[in-house]
Amino acid sequence: MSAVASYEFIAPGRIVFGWGRWGEVAPVAAALGRRAFLIEGSRTLAAGGFIGRLQAALGERGLTSVRLATIAHEPEVPDVDDAVRRVRELGAGAGDLVIGIGGGSAIDLAKAVAALATNATGSSVRDYLEGVGRGLQISVPPLPLIAMPTTAGTGSEATKNAVISSYDPPFKKSLRSDLMMPRAVIVDPQLAVSVPPAVTAQTGMDAITQLIESYISRKARPIPRSLAIDGLRLALGAIEEAVDDGGSRRAREAMAQAALLSGMALANSGLGMAHGVAAALGVHCRTAHGLACALMLPIALRINREVCLPQLAQLAQAAGLAQSEPADVAADLLIARIEAICRRVGVPSRLGALGVTAEQIPALVRDSRGNSMDGNPRTLSDPELTQILEANL
Ligand code: NAD
Repeated sequence: MSAVASYEFIAPGRIVFGWGRWGEVAPVAAALGRRAFLIEGSRTLAAGGFIGRLQAALGERGLTSVRLATIAHEPEVPDVDDAVRRVRELGAGAGDLVIGIGGGSAIDLAKAVAALATNATGSSVRDYLEGVGRGLQISVPPLPLIAMPTTAGTGSEATKNAVISSYDPPFKKSLRSDLMMPRAVIVDPQLAVSVPPAVTAQTGMDAITQLIESYISRKARPIPRSLAIDGLRLALGAIEEAVDDGGSRRAREAMAQAALLSGMALANSGLGMAHGVAAALGVHCRTAHGLACALMLPIALRINREVCLPQLAQLAQAAGLAQSEPADVAADLLIARIEAICRRVGVPSRLGALGVTAEQIPALVRDSRGNSMDGNPRTLSDPELTQILEANL
């Protein structure tokens, strides 16, 4: 049998990474179209003059730009439907592109808008969402998308899905297609300097969760595993500094690279229980995605420890936390390090701190199921998951 199983790997067509390289979006965009729809993830970007400079740079290259939406919360069904209606009214089509500048929320909204601008079969994004929609597929190539992440967390710049929430009825599901992979990514770690410490902590823990879960996932693949090893080493060595000193170039660069690698890893491997439960916490408790992942990661590691000791030991060694210790000792060193980082950057350890109540647990268990949970190394029945959540309330 071959040492490497058969696999596929998908990634953005072009990645431009570097401190201060945001301005290169203009030539990259000029190669993709003549009119850019901007979707922004923070008012800070416009208030600090960044969006104006970006529009000027696009203009110098002969592109017109339209500020389509600013979104500072995780995108909901009406956010997508409203933005799609606007691009259609503006006659979106050949020669147009979308630029998403912000955290995962803005990039996901940009991905959904780019996809639905060209796929007009459904009346709402909901029709296309996994598990809750009408099963409609993205079959026509979306408008070209450039992703410019400003939080170092979700890795959405390198994934092929957009996560869309609804609170009534409650669901948090993905619009997913290989066609939705961004055409180009500009990662300028300098854009994250204005991200506040709590958001830096939570989004950074999201990247760490993605790197670990994709590595131990039952759907893990060879290339993503190599990326996850490198990303985890970088993130574990930089997250505390990024939180303490948001202006640290070294820490922001390391976290931006770790987040990018985490996106490539998750797009080509599975995730696991922390992400499964995080989606349910998002809709039932309105917990920010990164915070939900951060709180769930130590719990998920303890639950999965027995079935993935070798993988956890490999990660511990790669991160320099262990050398030649037995696998169980090395795995525990990794788990202890994660728990220590969580305490240090202000992530609570119990679900009750997020406002979760015992009455919510049945709904959390039900809505934790899906694509992420399917990758969890250990199969968990509903009674088992209920017991785990109750024990960590
Ligand atoms: P976010 O995009 O919601 O941003 C968090 C906060 O940071 C917001 O208030 C935003 O306005 C602010 N912010 C962003 N950039 C800033 C800047 N430069 N300066 C100051 N403030 C800034 O948070 P996120 O964690 O990046 O994204 C979360 C969303 O991404 C969730 O909906 C989650 O489900 C989704 N997600 C998607 C994928 C994917 O592959 N598509 C993967 C993981 C998570």
